[in-house]
Amino acid sequence: VMQTQDTFVPPPAKWGGRHTVTLLPGDGIGSEMANHVKELFRYAGAPVDFEEIDLDSTAPDVEGFEYALMSIKRNGVALKGNIETRTSFQGFQSRNVVLRNRLGLFANVVCVKNLPGIRAKQKDVDVVIIRENLEAEYSGIEHESVPGVVESLKIITREKSMRIAKFAFEWATKYNRKKVTAIHKANIMKMSDGLFLECCRITSKEYPDIQFDQMIIDNCSMQMVNKPSQFDLMVMPNLYGDVLSNIACGVIGGPGLVSGTNLGYRYAVFETGARNTGKSIVGQNIANPCAFIRASVDLLNYLKLEHQAHVIEDAVMKTLIEDKVWTPDLGGQATTTDVMQNIVKYVKANA
Ligand code: ATP
Repeated sequence: VMQTQDTFVPPPAKWGGRHTVTLLPGDGIGSEMANHVKELFRYAGAPVDFEEIDLDSTAPDVEGFEYALMSIKRNGVALKGNIETRTSFQGFQSRNVVLRNRLGLFANVVCVKNLPGIRAKQKDVDVVIIRENLEAEYSGIEHESVPGVVESLKIITREKSMRIAKFAFEWATKYNRKKVTAIHKANIMKMSDGLFLECCRITSKEYPDIQFDQMIIDNCSMQMVNKPSQFDLMVMPNLYGDVLSNIACGVIGGPGLVSGTNLGYRYAVFETGARNTGKSIVGQNIANPCAFIRASVDLLNYLKLEHQAHVIEDAVMKTLIEDKVWTPDLGGQATTTDVMQNIVKYVKANA
């Protein structure tokens, strides 16, 4: 996690070395996944107390949502499943988007890397996707100017583009990445994406040791499927990041493997990389728990609970790579319970 003079350090532990973390299971498989994480934290002896908040997704649940925001502000950190956005709530914005906005979580970081032995569409993928998380297509400003004509405003600002560009180059510096590729559609959206690209280019001048290049989103989508090994670290506006991080997750094995982090100056929220609810597989005991568990490992690392993070990460890797206990999304026949039992076995042995 980036820590420049601009960013907050993670919240310190409380008396006795314990941390309080907001847990928002969200919808779909979220609550099943949250339970698995709680179980692993117990076995790993992770000194974390979860403040769990279940939002009502059949209604806007404004009070619950405000309470959740307050909880994250108080604790500084959250582990979060995806909250379903029903399009039928009139005028009701995605709570995932509102949450990121209200907490100033301006960067989404998804690190996508092959896992040895896992069936993947391409090998040698090792890419960091950094997505501007607050503006552009997600500004949420839409209106019907006259009946049958709708306008949706994509707002890109110099301030936020410079902020994400700097974040990307700082990340590249800290984690020893050699190349930053800015993704855009500046050939069509000359002003908005043009500004984004310009900000990346200006910022790149301050980092002479890091190679800088750029690619148009359509070509990039194809390259991500056909030759993803060419990418090192990528930085892009919101919607492109949404699509590309899902493509990248798909290339290395699907929605159940990769975690993603939302960062701002003050707060950090840990999620799965593909941000699925998985509502079609609820209660079937087939969801792959690894993406959510790896999000919890990111959380532990952020809190500097490196030992517990390592024990859990190692248990997941042994389960996937050595024992090959795979749920159906990976081509296996194991249930979620089988995967969990195998992970728990290692966690118990090494905690
Ligand atoms: P719908 O598309 O109707 O919203 P869904 O909520 O299941 O269904 P997504 O959450 O977008 O869809 O998930 C996309 C696909 O990935 C679905 O087929 C889902 O079953 C699958 N999926 C998501 N998460 C996991 C997981 N952890 N393990 C296995 N499969 C998953």
